[in-house]
Amino acid sequence: MAFHYEYFNTLLPQLIGSKEGSVAPQIVPSAAFAYESAQEAEAIFSGEVAKPVYARMGNPTGGKLEAVLSKMEGGHGAVVTASGMGAVTMVLSAFCERDDRVLCIGGFFGGTYALMNETMPRFGIEPLFCDVDDFEEIKKILQDGVKIVLMESVGNPNLKLPDIRRIALLCNEYNTLLVVDNTLTPLVVQPFKMGADIVVYSTTKIISGHSAALGGAAVFRALKKEGEKLLDPKFSSIHPLLEKGEGAIMAILKKRAMRDLGMSANAFGSFLTLLGMETLTLRTKRINESVEKIATILHDNGIRVRHPSLEGHEHHLRYEALFEAGCGPLLTVECGTKERAFVFLNESKLLFQSANVGDNRTLGLHMASTIYRDFEALDRKILGITDGLVRISVGLESPVAIAEDIMAAWKTAMV
Ligand SMILES: *Cc1c(COP(=O)(O)O)cnc(C)c1O
Repeated sequence: MAFHYEYFNTLLPQLIGSKEGSVAPQIVPSAAFAYESAQEAEAIFSGEVAKPVYARMGNPTGGKLEAVLSKMEGGHGAVVTASGMGAVTMVLSAFCERDDRVLCIGGFFGGTYALMNETMPRFGIEPLFCDVDDFEEIKKILQDGVKIVLMESVGNPNLKLPDIRRIALLCNEYNTLLVVDNTLTPLVVQPFKMGADIVVYSTTKIISGHSAALGGAAVFRALKKEGEKLLDPKFSSIHPLLEKGEGAIMAILKKRAMRDLGMSANAFGSFLTLLGMETLTLRTKRINESVEKIATILHDNGIRVRHPSLEGHEHHLRYEALFEAGCGPLLTVECGTKERAFVFLNESKLLFQSANVGDNRTLGLHMASTIYRDFEALDRKILGITDGLVRISVGLESPVAIAEDIMAAWKTAMV
């Protein structure tokens, strides 16, 4: 699949700008909306008239962001949320019931892992975990009956790369909903083209880029006219909502999660996210190219760096075949011990030490003492978190300057 930045470079700014009146997106901060008449109120609540109901169910600024994200992803629609975790929670709580099982494939962002491992079980939803390459096990679990497969387009921070297409084919075989968290790889990975049913984002990350707005989104496909997997009896609790037609997944997300749990996006956050999106293509290209350059320089200089563009990585061939435009802003450096990792981070002049990723600035963080500090030793092992692991999220600075800064800090840390 050839990747066309030029297509999105043309599309996105045109979509975000308004050609009449205010060019920048409008911020509509109202929590409540008034209806013209009792008849209109009835029609809005029934869904016949598409006007805002109440901001917990969505606001016009978020609506603009939803339209842009849906178009970018090639989806049928989107629902924006207060955070990326809000989006993951919305999808799970909209589709799952007590005693359902969710298969989590690959490495996970800490928040998602904790949600699946600790919080969902409290509500009777059982998580199962397996590696991206364990196809036998994946098939066996799907055969036994699972409602949702949840996976990230690239493991954070383990940088394992899944074969999304192959997993999607298995999900189709067993009528399992495939949800892909594409937070780290907007544009460069297009999950719908690979067979995903729902794509989730933390828009806080590279979609915004500026660290000024927390947000998330779930983008969904249209209901299929033939072979719709949601018609499987295991999804019977949502069957009444399928009558809404093509856009039924919107109703499922809003009525079964957003309305009752309230993970709604605010207008100002959506506005800031739209501003970030205007330059998403430029930033994505720059960052994905820089990551490869930096990984190569570091590797050539004897630094223990991990990235799929390097030949020694277990998914290097998959990277070349399936991730031709890159796999996002992350690479990791293995410092060996916590002490060395601390020296390395404190010596760097350039890195911001922050738990974020996908920022316009280059960020670095010691994993074991921060995001993963409360995790059991076994969970850390599964997730690939070693004592000396430092995650780096490459930003917009000069890749040569970033590599030189890392090499200087490494030199001090390793004496
Ligand atoms: C950050 C992140 C999330 C959570 O997003 P928030 O906006 O911080 O709630 C989910 N998935 C991935 C891959 C992330 O990087």
